[in-house]
Amino acid sequence: MTDIRIGQGYDVHAFGEGDHVVLGGVRIPHERGVLAHSDGDVVIHALCDALLGALALGDIGVHFPPSEARWKGADSRVFLRHCAGLLAERGWRLGNADVTVVCERPKVAPHAAAMRAHLAADLGVEPDVISVKATTSEKLGFTGRGEGLAAMAVALLVRA
Ligand code: MG
Repeated sequence: MTDIRIGQGYDVHAFGEGDHVVLGGVRIPHERGVLAHSDGDVVIHALCDALLGALALGDIGVHFPPSEARWKGADSRVFLRHCAGLLAERGWRLGNADVTVVCERPKVAPHAAAMRAHLAADLGVEPDVISVKATTSEKLGFTGRGEGLAAMAVALLVRA
């Protein structure tokens, strides 16, 4: 039996009408919102997919179908806490996770510590095992044109 597992996740949401975005559970004022069935939190969606990937349990769309009305406008932290439960049930804990947000704006760095605190709380780990960082795409592609934002995540699981 192996003692570690790794997973990766990726998520994108397009900008739309609105006055804020939610990233890592933090509401950040912005001149645009995101088009999404839930709150459109790409940080949490990518991280959930990394955790589900490590467990080989499909993806966030399988566990929380956008077709289900109960997930409309959902706080994505509910998804993350659900994933934490799946980890624990199966005898795993998060070793560490690393998330990269890709967007020109809003600025992520001023909110990274608050995001890490939320993610750590939902996963029952210390914030120092969760990294949240950001990059622009140098004005190239859909993120560079400000059409939306993306996030990538990797997660390492270790035997609890
Ligand atoms: Mg998503």
